[in-house]
This record gives sequence, C-alpha cells and structure tokens, in this order.
Amino acid sequence: MATKILLCDDSKTARMLMKQPIMNQNLAFVEFFDGKEAFEYVVKNKHPIDLLITDVNMPKMDGFDLIRHIRLQYNFNELPILALSGSEKSSMVAQLLKTGANDYISKPLYNEEFLTRINMTLEQSRLYKENQALIEKLQAMATTDFLTKLYNRNYFFSTIKHVQAQAKRTNYQYGVIMLDIDYFKKVNDTFGHDAGDFTLVEIAKTLQEAARESDIVCRWGGEEFLILVQKSTFEELCNFARRIRLLIEKKDLVLDVDALTFHVTASIGVALGDDNIEAAISTADARLYRAKENGRNQVVCN
Ligand code: GH3
Ligand code: MG
Ligand code: MG
Repeated sequence: MATKILLCDDSKTARMLMKQPIMNQNLAFVEFFDGKEAFEYVVKNKHPIDLLITDVNMPKMDGFDLIRHIRLQYNFNELPILALSGSEKSSMVAQLLKTGANDYISKPLYNEEFLTRINMTLEQSRLYKENQALIEKLQAMATTDFLTKLYNRNYFFSTIKHVQAQAKRTNYQYGVIMLDIDYFKKVNDTFGHDAGDFTLVEIAKTLQEAARESDIVCRWGGEEFLILVQKSTFEELCNFARRIRLLIEKKDLVLDVDALTFHVTASIGVALGDDNIEAAISTADARLYRAKENGRNQVVCN
C-alpha cells in the first residue's frame, strides 16, 4: 500500500507548497483546510494514514486540539504527526511537542528539510510497526504448538494466574482435564509418523470444537492434552470429560492416501483446581495414570 500523508492547513498556498515536494516523491496524500475535517477523516472514519502534517492556527479546530484528539487514539508510532509552526516563539515548539507532535517544521518551508523530516518520521514509524508485527509473531510462536495450533504449556502457565484470580473473584471453580491418547505409538508404527501427526491434529480439532470459548485447550506434550475449564462444577467437569472420551472413540480418522479409516481412544483424568495449580495437575495426572492401569479408554474423576 502506498504511503499516505494527510496535510492539514487552512492556507491554500501553504498546502500547494507542501503538495509539490510530496508529489515529486510519489507519496499519496489527502488535504484538509481545518483540524475538524482532518479529525473526522482519521479518528471518526478510521481512514488509514501514515503521517499527519498539521498547521497550528486554523479556524474551527486548531493544530493543538487536533493533536490532542488524535493522541487519545493513536500513539507516536502508530500515527506520527509533524506540526508546522510559523511562530517565532520557541515556547510554541515546545508546546507542540508536549501536546504530542513527533516533530515540527518551521515555516517558511525548505523542501529539502521538509522531505527529510517526513522521511525520517515515516521511517521511525515503519520500524516500530515492523517490530510490533515481529513481537506478535514471536508471541504467537512462543505460546502455540506448531503441529496442532493449540496453546502450549508456556501459554497455560502464563494464563493460569489470571484464571485463578477470576475463579476467586467470581466464586466459581476451575478444572483441569488431562488426556493421553492410548497406544499412540502403535498408530505411528502401523500407519507411519505422518498418520500419527494427522491423528494429533484431528484430536486437537475435536477437543477444540467440544470446548467452550472460555476453555483453554493445550497440547501438553507428545500425545497428551490438557484442557483448562473455567467456571465449572465437579459434575460438569466429569460430564465434559466423558463426552470428550466418547467423541474421540467415535471419531473416524480417515487417511487420504489410501482412504483407510482407523480409530483411537484416550484415557482421561480430571481434577478441580484452587490456588495450587501444580497440585491440581498432579491429581489429574494420577487419575489419568489410573485410567491407563484400569484398561484405558476411560475417565477417572476421583
Ligand atoms: P499409552 O497408552 O500408555 O499412552 O501408550 P502410548 O503408545 O500412547 O504412549 P508412549 O508414551 O509409549 O508413546 C507415545 C508416542 O507418541 C511415542 C512418540 O514417538 C509419539 N509422539 C510424540 N509426539 C509425536 C508427534 O508429534 N508426532 C507423532 N507422529 N508421534 C509423536
Ligand atoms: Mg499415550
Ligand atoms: Mg504419553
């Protein structure tokens, strides 16, 4: 997308002088003669722009008010602002910067300075946005399991404090469901590692679909999953676990390659949680272990 600049100045001549170098640089622009129109374009109607250049003295909404209003919604890097100051007073420049302008340009304009300030400000904002995108990508990578796209353990531990606090505040309990696919090694050995991966993805989907919006479904390890159920009674938790067991048992796993259908089962342990999440996890784990010992494909609640 082309870089877009908003020019705001009540003087047509001033706008003309700014437009020329901007057009020479092949930058796109829109122009307004007052802060009010510029404000409506950017903040009310959410038109994306990369840089706002504004005069100070304008009839309806002046540059100060425009900057103030914009800064309520966008920070320095999201929407950089250059203020045009014709005033000789240096206190005016300080005021503009304090109000939220990234930089200022004094009138009369010198094309080279004007373009240099524009390009430097745009570059700074571009770098910030690139960094933000990178941070978001890294955060997603650090909290998501690559194969199943479920949350991972990292995410679970980063969110559990919040879940515990919420449980305390609302007087509800939360629960954990630990699930391990039975004889999963056999799937790999019989149908190949890709079929094993496919199974994990399908089971992950089944869990995600069965879960409520507020549940947090994680891949805990290899073929082990954990569901953090918010707002639950013991009864609801066990019923949910039983429903999941049945869904997995009934799930047709169809390998595209040779249209072969197979099935897996899972063993499940559940526990209600309190302040001590480690204890809840180890209780659920112990119950899962008992489900395995008792013959697998079952839920152990207590
Ligand atoms: P049990 O019923 O006692 O749980 O037996 P199991 O075979 O499911 O358990 P075991 O721990 O013996 O084996 C788990 C297997 O899961 C071994 C490992 O190679 C496989 N596995 C772990 N992660 C992945 C993965 O990402 N993809 C595939 N295809 N296999 C995996
Ligand atoms: Mg297993
Ligand atoms: Mg296992």
